[in-house]
Amino acid sequence: MKITQFDVTPIQRRGLILQIRTDEGLTGIGAPMNYEHGRTIERAIRDMSDYLIGKDPRQIEDHWQVLFRSSYSRQMPILLAALSGIDMACLDILGQSLGAPIWRLLGGSVRQKIRVYSSTGGPEPEKYAEGALRAVERGFTAVKMCPFPEPVRFIDTPAMVDKTIRRVAAVREAVGPQIDVALDFHRAVSPAMARMVLPELEPLKPMFVEEPTHPENVDALLEIAQSTSIPIATGERNTTRWGFREICEKRAAAVLQPDIRHCGGILEMRKIASLAEIHYLSIAPHSASDPLGVVASVHAMAGVPNFLIQEYGGGNGEELFHEPLTFQDGFVELPEGPGMGVTIDEQKLEALRITEWGQRSSRRHPEDDSVNDI
Ligand SMILES: [Mg+2]
Repeated sequence: MKITQFDVTPIQRRGLILQIRTDEGLTGIGAPMNYEHGRTIERAIRDMSDYLIGKDPRQIEDHWQVLFRSSYSRQMPILLAALSGIDMACLDILGQSLGAPIWRLLGGSVRQKIRVYSSTGGPEPEKYAEGALRAVERGFTAVKMCPFPEPVRFIDTPAMVDKTIRRVAAVREAVGPQIDVALDFHRAVSPAMARMVLPELEPLKPMFVEEPTHPENVDALLEIAQSTSIPIATGERNTTRWGFREICEKRAAAVLQPDIRHCGGILEMRKIASLAEIHYLSIAPHSASDPLGVVASVHAMAGVPNFLIQEYGGGNGEELFHEPLTFQDGFVELPEGPGMGVTIDEQKLEALRITEWGQRSSRRHPEDDSVNDI
């Protein structure tokens, strides 16, 4: 079997769909990350396709090794986004060629279904609470919220701290103690500010606090983790095993959140999960907007013993697939079809296709117009 063609389609909600076609009529699908640099990632896929066209798509690990290790700039997330999409699409082709879902090829499952969470927004406390209740009514048993929807100063006022606590308290009060409430600080908070807020959040018992500060400095994260009883989560911006090594070794977080669309793909996600496992850390894959990313994560997590929960931002994919995921009572079922277990409905793909790449978004403090992290 030989790879013959690469097609990349930018779609709404910052998605990219990669389709790798073969001379035997099989087409594999992958979801490379697409945030601010979709055009660059598309170009990176084209560059990698020069090497892959004519090769056997089932030699996935060997292709990954060549494309990663022969690259001078191998840890670049943009290149890893391209590589992640290629990994997914080739695994999809392998699964189709063998008539088995990807999760079975990875050793089968250690769980019957995958727990997922929904997100809720504000900015008023009652809006967060209403959204959380709607999610619970739909069957979710865990919700996530960002209690800092507006820019935060390096050290902000007691009023800002109170507002933050009220938002989380409103959700906890609405859903009760049986529902998990996760918080995402979205890396927009300084370590000093995080340490002001976290002690007051502890009585509300969040499931975890995600990116409580900027993610680049592991020691800053460690300092926060050691200051609170709330489990700390991070990792949506990290790539490959090497990108998670220091967090694991220092145990600077309790929950790792690799995103399968740029961490290196399904096989690399499994290796990151194993690294986390030996440090007694859990995995909660990031997937904010893309349904194929959710599907690929489900395959990766089916056999991972230290899996915690999956983000479900992309939903079940009914707007893209012939066979959307089955969601019930807070869980999705493992796809039983061959390969990815979902196939692209070309008419739906055309309806989602975008022709303009969109503007870079930014967030500025209203008082002095200074740039905040987003
Ligand atoms: Mg996040």
